[in-house]
Amino acid sequence: MNRLSLWMVVFAVAQTPGLAAAQQDFSKVQIKTTHVAGHVYMLEGSGGNIGVSVGPDGVLIVDDEFAPLAGKIRAAIDKIGKGKLKFVLNTHYHGDHTGGNVKFGPEVPIIAQTNVRKRLSTEQKTLGRVRPASPKEAWPVITFDESLSVHFNDEEIKAIHFPHSHTDGDSVIFFTKAKVVHMGDLFFMGMLPFVDLDAGGDVEGLAKSVGKVIAMLKGDEKIIPGHGPLSSAEDLKTYHRMLVETIDEVRKGIAAGKTLKEIQAKGVPDEWKPWGNGYIKTDRWLETIHKSLKKKSA
Ligand SMILES: [Zn+2]
Repeated sequence: MNRLSLWMVVFAVAQTPGLAAAQQDFSKVQIKTTHVAGHVYMLEGSGGNIGVSVGPDGVLIVDDEFAPLAGKIRAAIDKIGKGKLKFVLNTHYHGDHTGGNVKFGPEVPIIAQTNVRKRLSTEQKTLGRVRPASPKEAWPVITFDESLSVHFNDEEIKAIHFPHSHTDGDSVIFFTKAKVVHMGDLFFMGMLPFVDLDAGGDVEGLAKSVGKVIAMLKGDEKIIPGHGPLSSAEDLKTYHRMLVETIDEVRKGIAAGKTLKEIQAKGVPDEWKPWGNGYIKTDRWLETIHKSLKKKSA
C-alpha cells in the first residue's frame, strides 16, 4: 500500500473514534524524514505531515500524527539531531494531527489556536460520528486567538489563525528564516480536500485563506501540506485554482437552478479529475461545496 492509500485508510478510521488503535496496524508504518530548509524537516508517517525544527534550542514539532507512532517519531527526530523536545504546535484538532498529544503533552507545552483546545476538550461530532473528548494531557496549554510566535532555533516561528477554513481552528505555521510554511489541512496536495463543515469549516473560507497565504509568499518558499508531498508556492497556487474553479462550478450550478445530482453528473473540469482519486472523491467534494454554500445562503 502506498503512503497515500495508507493515509486514506487511516483517515477513514481516524474518523471513527476508538477504532484507530484497534484496527490500524501502526507497526507497519515507517517515518520518512526530509530536510526542507535551514533547521526545518518534514516527517511523513501516517496521518498529517509533521514539521520539525531541530537546532541549538532543541526540538519543536508541528503536529504529531497518532499516539502509537510517538516512539517512531521520537526515533526519527533523534536521527536528525539529539535535542530535547521543547514545544508541540497543533495546526488544528483532527486526530490524525493531534493523536500524539497524549504522549508528548505530559512532557512539553502544546500550543494551538483557542478553538483547538475547545474541540479537543469536548465531545465532537464529525460526519455524524461522535468523537469523545481527548484526555486532559492532550489539550493545548498555551492558546492564542489570532497569532503567536515562538522564537526558537534562530528564527521566528509564527502561527497565524485562518478562521473558518478546513475547521474553525486552523493555523498556518511560518518558519520565517528557513522560508518554510506548514499549511496544516488548508492544503491537500494533488487531491481534493476534506472540509469539516461540522467543526466550523467553510469551502469559500478555505479558498480565501489559501489566497491570503499565497499573497504573503515571496515565491521561493517550501510548503509542507497537511497531506501529500513537500510542495512549492507554485503547487499551492495550482491547488488554490482548483478550489476556486470547482467552487465556482457548484455556485453556477446552484444559480442555474440545478440539483446536486445534476451538478455531480456534470462533474469538474478535466484538469481536476485526477484529484478525485484520493480519499475525497469528486462527488463527495461537490456535495461538500454544495452543503457549504447552501449553509451560508440559508
Ligand atoms: Zn484535518
